Amino acid sequence: MAWFKKSRKPIEPASGKASKIPEGVWVKCPGCTQAIYNKDLAANLQVCPKCGHHFRVGAADRLRQLFDAGEWIEHDPGLASTDPLSFTDTKPYRARLESSRASTGLQDAIIVGSGRVDGHPAVVAAMEYAFIGGSMGVVVGERIARGIERALADRAAVILVSCSGGARMMEGALSLMQMAKVSAALARLDRGRLPFISVLTDPTTGGVTASFAMLGDLNIAEPRALIGFAGPRVIEQTIRQKLPEGFQRSEFLLEHGMIDMVVDRRELKATLARALRFMSPPALPEAEPAPETESAGAR
Ligand SMILES: [Zn+2]
Repeated sequence: MAWFKKSRKPIEPASGKASKIPEGVWVKCPGCTQAIYNKDLAANLQVCPKCGHHFRVGAADRLRQLFDAGEWIEHDPGLASTDPLSFTDTKPYRARLESSRASTGLQDAIIVGSGRVDGHPAVVAAMEYAFIGGSMGVVVGERIARGIERALADRAAVILVSCSGGARMMEGALSLMQMAKVSAALARLDRGRLPFISVLTDPTTGGVTASFAMLGDLNIAEPRALIGFAGPRVIEQTIRQKLPEGFQRSEFLLEHGMIDMVVDRRELKATLARALRFMSPPALPEAEPAPETESAGAR
């Protein structure tokens, strides 16, 4: 026999009636665990107004935040992967592409566009994490390389916002080649004396960190972003040592000289504008008008 007896009936379980609040109106912040009104979050560039936690931003939103008046001309939106290796892991790569295309409305994990950033002509590329982890395959590499070439032709600056799990393993060695291709294009940009600013957001890892993300004339990271090549578990197993607190986060990398600045997203555009003002090339000299007195004298 039980020592205690429940004299009252247990409280009735919640009825099936759904809450009146539609899903997604409130977001729980992983930084401070407080509930934030979704519209407040959007108005604050997806940064928690209470603790400053930076939520991940999609590629289109990112471009909207950076370009003047939120306007840009997109380049090569139609480029799409052809699954060159007919790759299958737990499911076929083609099926992964299809579902990512359907959920993001993009052909691949990046948007590249031209426009103006605080009046400065710029080509800005933003990676889309929702598309197969923002991985860099042939299409991502090709679009970035073409964007850089366009910047060279237009004498524009290049700003690359990384948000990526690294190279796309479903395209094997072809995706690794993009590291060299983009790096070579950036070298041409450098010879053209045009600025390249790399913005590293959470997460920037693998082949993206190992190539263009760390090649900026200025490397700017968002606060608390995970930035690294291999993950901490792999490193710990390799070196057989415990990693220090905050390892591979923006602030740690800044302290150790791997990046130049950690900038709050709400300050990002102003910081980019200031950097572009400082780094932008002087305008090409215009054809000098013939001095009047001289031409008059020659006649
Ligand atoms: Zn918060």
